[in-house]
Amino acid sequence: MTEVQKNVVLIEDEKMIRRYVALALTASGFKVWESETAQQGLLETASRRPDLIILDLGLPDRDGVDVIREMRLWCEIPILVLSVRTDEGQKVEALDAGADDYLTKPFGVPELQARIRAVLRRRSRQDSDPEFEKGVFAFGDIQVDMVHRRVNRSGQPIHLTPIEYQILTLLVANVDRVLTHRFILQKVWGPDYVNRPHYLRVFMAGLRRKIEENSSNPKHLMTETGIGYRLVRQP
Ligand code: CA
Repeated sequence: MTEVQKNVVLIEDEKMIRRYVALALTASGFKVWESETAQQGLLETASRRPDLIILDLGLPDRDGVDVIREMRLWCEIPILVLSVRTDEGQKVEALDAGADDYLTKPFGVPELQARIRAVLRRRSRQDSDPEFEKGVFAFGDIQVDMVHRRVNRSGQPIHLTPIEYQILTLLVANVDRVLTHRFILQKVWGPDYVNRPHYLRVFMAGLRRKIEENSSNPKHLMTETGIGYRLVRQP
């Protein structure tokens, strides 16, 4: 790697998984600092100031969501959480508490690497992506022009309702990141609407019909079951 080596604090109590993730990250050029407990992880984070934190939600000494809330009081370092499949509620809580994304165990190395790249890219993009500076974002055959509030497919205008446009630009601003139902509802409709995911479902269906080539088999506006939605730039 030609870039400066990035540091990762990995907080995971299961030794097998910790070794697996640490080896994959080391092979990808990261420097990994391993922690077995929340307490140790918080100390490592404070002293190493890593580029990324990978946090298992099921730790022996503290609730993982609690750890995220505490970290977010004093640091904005991206957090990728590791969780088990059955725990959608906890993943939503983790994301709403300030985690950047999650991976469900068991996961493969390519999935881990892709998720890490997306999290790090998103964090560095605000000041370095010329496309974002121009206010134009493209995915598939769709172009979103945020300066002129226009959406085109291969140069042909698509008409979106104001709500559809707001949802789409929120997803664009967070491309490749999962957004919880609550987050989208709060941003688009306001705090009184956070418990009305059916609103969102209706508008997402409409948006998919306009944006996706085949709305019943979406390639970009993806559902994360029980959690929310993710705009995937390159399927
Ligand atoms: Ca665990």
